[in-house]
Amino acid sequence: MYYDLHTHHFPEGNGDICTIVNVSTKDLQENLLLPPPEGDRLTHDNFALKSGVSYPPLEGAGGGNNSNIFYSIGIHPWHIQKDNIEKKLDLIEKYALFPHVKAIGECGLDKCCKTDFELQKEVFSSHISISEKAGKPLIIHCVKSFDELISFKKESRPAQTWIIHGFRGKPQQAKQLIKQGFYLSFGMNYNEQSLQNIPIERMFFETDDSGCDIRIIYENAAKTLNTPEKNLIRQIEQNVNSVFTPKSPKGDFGF
Ligand SMILES: [Zn+2]
Repeated sequence: MYYDLHTHHFPEGNGDICTIVNVSTKDLQENLLLPPPEGDRLTHDNFALKSGVSYPPLEGAGGGNNSNIFYSIGIHPWHIQKDNIEKKLDLIEKYALFPHVKAIGECGLDKCCKTDFELQKEVFSSHISISEKAGKPLIIHCVKSFDELISFKKESRPAQTWIIHGFRGKPQQAKQLIKQGFYLSFGMNYNEQSLQNIPIERMFFETDDSGCDIRIIYENAAKTLNTPEKNLIRQIEQNVNSVFTPKSPKGDFGF
């Protein structure tokens, strides 16, 4: 089985790909009570249809022909808007408990976007709390904010796994993040030395919004790592099993 840690598209074809599709609160809110929309892009209707759940309300049991499709839910730092933030966070907290929602995010910190950085930190902190309470990993978007991200990890001492998605940093940064307990997920473009210099037990792969086939990304990574692809497939499966096996949540929101 190939695992696509983070994508904005549904996988095509046969059942050898297991995917975590990113759901934004925008997708949910806009479609929650509307008639089923058409098209391929992720919508509430697709969410319901593809995971085999009823519509509405969402029931997270999944099943049908799409049992390899799972979800992550969160607010991307680019899309944070102050006015309705509490409502959106409530929604995430609610959906976080559905069994087919496997991770919280993508969420995080980005110094290259217009959203106020203090507001980003507040919202990221809320995602950390939801991840701890739901007992599910965090999928993190981080741009030029790694010092702050590491501070957050040291202060909150999370029980859940933190995965930095779309990692393109240099080997030194990769090593520093590994030392702090992070996992790194690699997509179409990455620094080859970074991939070569981290433990294979801490890596994932993803297609994100590239529209690329996850199997190609595995193939490229196996070449970069100079390892047979079947070994990589086996190892990533083990990583998935160790990270996505539910860990006990802390039980309340406070740290
Ligand atoms: Zn993404």
